Amino acid sequence: LHDTKRTVLMVTHDRYFLDAVCTNIYELNRKKLKLYQGNYSDYLEKKEIESTIEENTERRIESVLRVERDWLMRGPCARGTKAKARIQHDMALINREKFSKEKGFTFEVADRRLGGKIIELHNVSKNFPKTNPNSKEFTPVLKNFSYKFNKGEKIGIFGNNGSGKSTLLNIITKTLEPDTGSVEYGENTFIGYYQQNPQFTDLSLTVLEYIKEAAEVIKRNGKKDLSASQFLNEFGFEGKIQHSTLSSLSGGERKRVFLVRLLITNPNFLVLDEPTNDFDIFTMNILEQFLLEYQGCLLIVSHDRYFMDKVADTLFIMEDDGCVSGYVGKCSQYIDYLEQKNKERS
Ligand code: ADP
Ligand code: MG
Repeated sequence: LHDTKRTVLMVTHDRYFLDAVCTNIYELNRKKLKLYQGNYSDYLEKKEIESTIEENTERRIESVLRVERDWLMRGPCARGTKAKARIQHDMALINREKFSKEKGFTFEVADRRLGGKIIELHNVSKNFPKTNPNSKEFTPVLKNFSYKFNKGEKIGIFGNNGSGKSTLLNIITKTLEPDTGSVEYGENTFIGYYQQNPQFTDLSLTVLEYIKEAAEVIKRNGKKDLSASQFLNEFGFEGKIQHSTLSSLSGGERKRVFLVRLLITNPNFLVLDEPTNDFDIFTMNILEQFLLEYQGCLLIVSHDRYFMDKVADTLFIMEDDGCVSGYVGKCSQYIDYLEQKNKERS
């Protein structure tokens, strides 16, 4: 796409992609469409400048209005001549469309302590029958994998489609039994699992009811508690939508509610399977902030390099033969390393 002479118009939440390919960005925000020239980094820079300018303007208007309000309160006689134009001007200022800062919400819940033993995998293997159901052949998806998770580890899982990433997560979360080997949990381990297709048992619940099932108030580290409704506000579910049923939400919204609920249950071992496919940049930013502060263990699958680089510092690599190898470093470093290796080979 970068090299083509054609015009490309695309919608994507993938920021690396936006950065690498786009020369112009349209932002659709509060019903307004605005053009920014440049790629995603340029866009961010321009937004930053814009927001500083708007903030300053707003501050200036407020200080003018403080004086003007006094003047208006004085009553018609004291205002003197030429009052009409001045009043009109003041009214225009008072009724202006106010600049509201983009939400800089950081999402945070109280920590739940992890014990010494977290999760241990011992010689875990999994095979699936080959696509032909009558065939007796099996594809090894996982072969003899052992691992002990340590406190606060942030691990990304890297592998092609169909390489067994979701299978591994299903086994770790005990959603799926391994063929051989065992999965052991520590006493205090509490898992939150964001699956690719979240299941809802009751779609007739409203958004607020669904969240309240998990928690009425959300406790945060050293900050005021939030009610479920306040919390939803912060996550972009404002007003009426809190009383809409889950069944009436869009696919993306439903996944966002699912994520909110998952996080407020306060897991200390968080497993996220391709969350970036489902969320817009606004939600991704909140999620990233949350994960950067997060004290528990984190295991994520994502094709969004930007996201992986930010939140994971170790990788599990799913090899073709069912083996899992490790890489200490960021996803981008690993990709560079792979490219280097390929170059040397050819
Ligand atoms: P990934 O998440 O890395 O894309 P998966 O873990 O979903 O991959 O799948 C790994 C392999 O196992 C794929 O070849 C897939 O077709 C196969 N597989 C996954 N689940 C099943 C199942 N329930 N029955 C048979 N084959 C499966
Ligand atoms: Mg998968």
